[in-house]
Amino acid sequence: MKAAVVNEFNQKLEIQSVPVPELEHGEILVKIKACGVCHTDLHAAHGDWPVKPKLPLIPGHEGVGVVEEVGEGVTSVKVGDHVGIPWLYSACGECEYCLTGRETLCPDQLNAGYSIDGAYAEYCKAPANYVVKIPEHLDFAEISPIFCAGVTTYKALKVSDAKPGQWVAIYGIGGLGHVALQYAKAMGLNVIAVDISDEKLELATSLGADLTVNGLKVDPVEEIKNKVGGVEAAISVAVTKKAFEQAYGSVKRGGTLVVVGLPNDELPIPIFDTVLNGVTVKGSIVGTRKDLQESIEFAAQGKVRTNIELQPLDSINEVLERMENGKINGRVVLTMP
Ligand code: NAD
Ligand code: ZN
Ligand code: ZN
Repeated sequence: MKAAVVNEFNQKLEIQSVPVPELEHGEILVKIKACGVCHTDLHAAHGDWPVKPKLPLIPGHEGVGVVEEVGEGVTSVKVGDHVGIPWLYSACGECEYCLTGRETLCPDQLNAGYSIDGAYAEYCKAPANYVVKIPEHLDFAEISPIFCAGVTTYKALKVSDAKPGQWVAIYGIGGLGHVALQYAKAMGLNVIAVDISDEKLELATSLGADLTVNGLKVDPVEEIKNKVGGVEAAISVAVTKKAFEQAYGSVKRGGTLVVVGLPNDELPIPIFDTVLNGVTVKGSIVGTRKDLQESIEFAAQGKVRTNIELQPLDSINEVLERMENGKINGRVVLTMP
């Protein structure tokens, strides 16, 4: 089968012919129809993070498609089902986190397109119990970004504890941010979209953002304090430290900063302000299978739509280069040959 492979960090991915994965007990083989390109895949290809991915690596954790084959012992999924393979490829099912509905914190998890091969390929295998089904009337390419961008931001908003009628700020209106703002609107929140590109802010307005701020033209912290007195929650999905600092500064007393974007950097937090203002800083990592089912349901009901651009698998290197330069509006979704 054809796949895009990272053989070395900071080198172009190679389009290679590799064997179709062989199934083990409890696994299924998915014929991939579409796979969104997440900024995490760029981090993986660069080896940006303290924990490195396996090499060689087939990236991709927004892979969706049709079940082609089921291995021994599989009962939850059948041939022909539409499914997606998320970042949480598998977890142990037995640790304190798995047992308490916090499987995304499982220390023994595997991650699709990082610690195990993902879906930048014609086929991808996965444990049947960790794939999530997709209603058959939904378009593969349109639903693909929900498998990471959607579930991640939906979960981040949930853990922010922001309530209907309150203001939230989304820093970074890229793949994650453009769906984040729609989940926020669907939850009854008021949304401020912050980015450094007018084109992305126009998209944010068209998707329902109440206010937009271009961080290159004005200071978002002052703008947000002046206009709404600070936000109940700021979700930072940008990939620069500056955005995190500004997101922290936008939060009002008693509010929450949710840290989602993953620049390999540090966020210095002023102790005095954090204590006196009672600010919470929380990390949030993707979402559980249940969160994913819920976030798909929002899309199925038309409350959230992904702004996608289709590209063939072969164009992955140009796509990653555009992503690095901030030149993608919404999400690029790879279609398989
Ligand atoms: P993206 O490249 O599509 O979007 C990033 C956006 O940030 C772009 O629109 C860019 O213009 C904007 N930006 C850059 N500098 C900014 C600034 N100073 N202020 C405001 N906006 C700014 O990336 P993506 O796919 O949305 O991923 C974003 C980050 O989230 C990545 O680091 C990725 O690894 C991480 N991520 C985390 C999780 C998680 O579970 N925590 C899940 C998925 C992705
Ligand atoms: Zn992702
Ligand atoms: Zn576990």
